[in-house]
This record gives sequence, structure tokens and C-alpha cells, in this order.
Amino acid sequence: MYNLNKILQSDLEFINISNEDFTLFEYKPPRSFKNFALDLNIVKQNTKSNIFFHLFRGNLKIVNIRLDDLIYTAGSTNKIQYQLLEALIEQTAKNFNITYDVKYILSYGNFDNSIFRDYKDEIVKLIQTFDELKAVKVINVPCSVCDKVLPLIVKKSFIENAESYPAPLVYMHEGHSILCFIDKNYDVRGVELVNITG
Ligand SMILES: [Zn+2]
Repeated sequence: MYNLNKILQSDLEFINISNEDFTLFEYKPPRSFKNFALDLNIVKQNTKSNIFFHLFRGNLKIVNIRLDDLIYTAGSTNKIQYQLLEALIEQTAKNFNITYDVKYILSYGNFDNSIFRDYKDEIVKLIQTFDELKAVKVINVPCSVCDKVLPLIVKKSFIENAESYPAPLVYMHEGHSILCFIDKNYDVRGVELVNITG
């Protein structure tokens, strides 16, 4: 069985919350000494709001989204699926804006990001208890190339907000991709091998 809390604790590299000009908050696990400033500059070039962008750099997977003038970014090793990173960002964004009146805080001329420093404890708690939020489901999909049944992580918000059912989700892995059709009840209604380009 897929242990979400364990994989987030072992494979998440960072969570960053920025605006156009600077970082408001960044979480890195104690084991991480890497600097992601360059990657964050790249994701800032995505100017559209409300859409998740994905970036794959070496062994690093990065997901980012702009929501209400803030840019939320999460990075992990390639063991974590994008849907899990997206769900983590959605929970972080919701929680961060409940905890802080960000617009009000940023309206101060002499803003200092140490005000958000304690948010680290919230992130640690979120990662340790993510499974309990039930924000994702792990379902099994057969891949005819791998000749195996693979665990596929699906965000609940994706299924619940889908425009129609079954909802399509492309699962890229091991250099190929399958298109999975998932219905409202998280049952897999079909799997197709798809050609890819980009
Ligand atoms: Zn496969």
C-alpha cells in the first residue's frame, strides 16, 4: 500500500510561496541542502493563473500554480506523482490563506517575511498527516507496456470538479504514457497507451 505521509516525508524537496518579487515562505526538510532559486525563477515565467504547470528537471519534479497573486511551488524527487504535489499545494494554499490575511500583511510598506516563519510547523504537520485529509485516492491501473498494475494517485478535487465523466488523466512514467479514464466513483473505465510529443 502506498503510504502518502511516508513518501512526502522522504521525497518532498521544498514548498515555496512567493509573489512576483520575493519569497514569502519556504519550507525545506532538514535533509535538503539544495537551492531551488533557479527553478523558482523558471516557474515564475508561467504567467497564467489557476492552472498547474509541471516541470521535470533531472531527478526533480516541480509543480506550480498562481492563485490570487501568489505563486505556490512544490518540488520532489521523481518518486512523487504530480497529482500528489498538486493536492499538497491546494491544501497549502487553502491553509496559508486561512492562517494569514496575506493581502493585508503585504500592504505594509516595511513587510518582512519572518512573519511567516512559524508556518513551517503547519507544513510539517500537513506532511505528517496528509493521508488523513483524504485529498487524494490511490487507484490501480494496468499498463500494457510495463505489463503491471501500477498505483496511480488521483486528486479528489480533480475528479469532483471534472467537466465530464469518465475524466481523463495521462500518467507519464518510465518514458511512456497511458491515458486513464476515471469515473465519479474512482473506478477505472479504460486505459489506453497514448503517443506523446512536446
Ligand atoms: Zn507503463
